[in-house]
Amino acid sequence: MMEEIDTVGIFELAEVSDDLKRIAGKVIRGERVTVEEGIVLFTEGDLGCLGKLADMVRLRKNGDRAYFIRNFHIEPTNICVNKCKFCSYSHHFSKTKWELSVEEIIDKVKEPENAVPELHITGAVHPDRDLYYYGDLLVKIKAVRHDLHIKAYSAVEIDYMIKKAGLSNVEGLKYLKSCGLDSIPGGGAEIFDETIRKEICGMKSTSAAWLDVHETAHQLGIPSNATMLYGHKENYSQRIDHLERLRQVQDRTGGFNAFIPLKFRNTNNEMSALPEVSVTEDMKMYAVARIYLDNFPHLKAYWPAVGRQLARVSLTFGVDDLDGTINDTTRIYSLAGAEDQNPVMTASQMRDLIREAKRVPAERDSLYNVIG
Ligand code: SF4
Repeated sequence: MMEEIDTVGIFELAEVSDDLKRIAGKVIRGERVTVEEGIVLFTEGDLGCLGKLADMVRLRKNGDRAYFIRNFHIEPTNICVNKCKFCSYSHHFSKTKWELSVEEIIDKVKEPENAVPELHITGAVHPDRDLYYYGDLLVKIKAVRHDLHIKAYSAVEIDYMIKKAGLSNVEGLKYLKSCGLDSIPGGGAEIFDETIRKEICGMKSTSAAWLDVHETAHQLGIPSNATMLYGHKENYSQRIDHLERLRQVQDRTGGFNAFIPLKFRNTNNEMSALPEVSVTEDMKMYAVARIYLDNFPHLKAYWPAVGRQLARVSLTFGVDDLDGTINDTTRIYSLAGAEDQNPVMTASQMRDLIREAKRVPAERDSLYNVIG
């Protein structure tokens, strides 16, 4: 049974300003929050009020379900043409350097513990690997696991390989789809504001290029996710600008499945001097994202980035998806100092974590169909 939506309680919170009460009224009535109102949510939003509003939106969209998926990652390489200052993963900053061969990748796909519904492939932007290499990789993976949903290549990787091939996004994405690309992960969005983007990751694809890869993919029937790297140099206005650009694409295409806020971690990168934001700020980020992105079906807490306990707490701040079992196959956040150095959770552990938050666990496929 769905829990009751507590709308009265929001207005009883003494610390809520009149402006915030007016915005809360809009959210309760299911009306869209403007850019200016989104900034007010961040600047004046009491965490209790934001949490209640976000939880209400979550309940309307997804009921009491909290989703997870059995999945594994493959990170083909960390050799990168770019030098993002927040990155702890690429060969520029990490103490390791790797480039898996196609044969090594296929061996990973064949491992019995990886007999799960979804494979997530992302890595660095390798200077010598191109569109046809990555297309061929998809073909070879599908040849051994035709039922595997392949969510592959961030828009930054795709932008690089398509430009290198001299093709348009339509041509390049059609080719990747024909090779077996099922969906696109949300990475590489970082922060869209051009000033901050230039400062922290000026070499990588522009915001416009990232957005165009996703919008084109949606038009071709390839769904995707979206992310935002928060908690570094950006201000609240720049966060809302990022959410607004995503909301506009989603209005046109409806192709995004989930939004995933990604917390800046400060271990072993060029921005290590910056402190990490507090847990309160993390929850605020989740809550405002849930309220603002009224056309996104799902809000995901990527537990290898925030840790499993914070991921559990996030389920009461608008989150309805905890991503996957991962099977200790990603290093992106462990190299940046995340609590889980070897991220792996069994499906049973994911169910327990979700039940601790008084939600109903729902194992999903990559398109959010419940499968267990
Ligand atoms: S964040 Fe990605 S694109 Fe940037 S340096 Fe790291 S691996 Fe390369």
